[in-house]
Amino acid sequence: NLKSPMVVVSNRLPFVLKRNENGELQRKQSAGGLVTAVAPVVIQCGGLWVGWPGIHMDDPHQSVPESDPGDMGPSAGLKSEQVVPVHVEEQLFDDYYNGCCNATFWPLFHSMPDRAVFVADMWEVRMEFGLVRSAACLILSAFDCSMLGLGLAIVNMSLPRGQSYSTVNVMFAYQTVDALKKMKMKNQEGEERIPLVWIHDYHLMLAANYIRQECEEQNLQCKLGFFLHIPFPPWDIFRLFPWDNEVLQGILGNDLVGFHIEDYCRNFLDCCQRRLGCRVDRVHNLVDVAGRTVKVRALPIGIPYKRFEEMANAAPRALQSSQQIVLGVDRLDYTKGLVNRIRSFERFLEKHPEYLGKVALLQVAVPSRTDVKEYQQLKEQMDLEIGRINGRFSTLNWSPIRYIYGCISQDELAAYYRDSSVALVTPLRDGMNLVAKEYVACQVDKPGVLILSPFAGAGETMHEALLVNPYELDDVADTLHRALTMPIDEREMRMYHLKKREQTMNVDFWLTSFLKVSIKTFPGHNVIG
Ligand code: UDP
Repeated sequence: NLKSPMVVVSNRLPFVLKRNENGELQRKQSAGGLVTAVAPVVIQCGGLWVGWPGIHMDDPHQSVPESDPGDMGPSAGLKSEQVVPVHVEEQLFDDYYNGCCNATFWPLFHSMPDRAVFVADMWEVRMEFGLVRSAACLILSAFDCSMLGLGLAIVNMSLPRGQSYSTVNVMFAYQTVDALKKMKMKNQEGEERIPLVWIHDYHLMLAANYIRQECEEQNLQCKLGFFLHIPFPPWDIFRLFPWDNEVLQGILGNDLVGFHIEDYCRNFLDCCQRRLGCRVDRVHNLVDVAGRTVKVRALPIGIPYKRFEEMANAAPRALQSSQQIVLGVDRLDYTKGLVNRIRSFERFLEKHPEYLGKVALLQVAVPSRTDVKEYQQLKEQMDLEIGRINGRFSTLNWSPIRYIYGCISQDELAAYYRDSSVALVTPLRDGMNLVAKEYVACQVDKPGVLILSPFAGAGETMHEALLVNPYELDDVADTLHRALTMPIDEREMRMYHLKKREQTMNVDFWLTSFLKVSIKTFPGHNVIG
């Protein structure tokens, strides 16, 4: 139980808004681990959730509907007044989201700078804060007065595409502070409740300083925490970004900064020291900046372990038992190493023809960022490669690769996890990778084997997995053979330890750890129970 209110600020709200057949807005729940863990806390402490509602509304005044009466989703209890939708004009949102976030930060932070687009047009924050803020306020107030046309005109005229990232960050900040102003800062006993503002991910790396400045000007109190859900790259990659100092300053606007693993913390400390010349304490993970000390912590996210275990126990059999299944489950993203994975599987079949007809790779690829060219090209490449390999090895009754291009429910996924002999989790780079953890939670019958890339955050803690370098096709092929021939007692021993760790270090543990560190950082935040 959190005594002080928590204000979550994330690119998306914990649900998306959709229109039903009658044109009415309805909430469609997100069931991800983050939402499942965090939404109940926001509900319990009377907090807020600030985010983009997932739809561009003609009338931004239209309030967010309450959840449907039968809605059992994790954020169903979040009342309308606890939801702060940030409406961003379509073109601006596209420049910010597809441009800056996904064409620049995503590849750069995954250490793939060749794929990163550095166009001043899509970035550039050298503009004075005051100027950016005025522009963002003008847009918002034009929206406020229902002068949508004026708002859009300002977007088009006064804001060259260059300011998309910083403008959207300011808009999020402005809406957050506006909501803070309306919040009761004292509880019934008259005790002060300083809100904890928890900003999430690479979409909002500049928001903290804008919130801080705005709060100072308006004499409001709040504490600022940030969690990055993707890797933080090493200094020699990060420095390729032409405006690296702005991003560092932006993150340092928080009082507490969380990453998944120690490596990412170290990378961040290096950058603060080498780029900004900050004094850094590597023993306690602290950075001194502008008279403040920022705490940096490794807080690896987990999964709702029990929920996956229960789903695996309840789900009907999903896969035929005559063949062994090697499972891959990923968004269709170039960071996931999918092309290398299917080529490794081809290598395995070449090296071990005794497995022809006896084993199949089942690859689930969830469509992602489908309007971005690189992602379309990856889809084409996958289709070609899978076609080629299936053409090469298939017989009348068997194909080596089964490919599902689509999203399946987690209930169904739990059955796939449970019934597969091996999970092949081989990203080239991944902040954490939850699929590896979900696979472990679902091993409720005879356990399978987890093959994992050390370039995923999960590779740092899941020591009993078989680690492989996804760039070495032979290594992956040989490790797959080892997994398929592993004796049951070794499989059980490895899975026992993997399960035990994930059971303890689940998503609630992650959330509690973040809150515990934040309470130590901000003593005003008592957690009871
Ligand atoms: N997932 C899903 N349906 C699918 C494939 C994946 O619900 O068809 C979920 C999966 O259960 C997991 C998440 O998507 O919780 C993927 O998380 P991960 O950290 O592995 O990768 P990300 O997509 O966040 O990079």
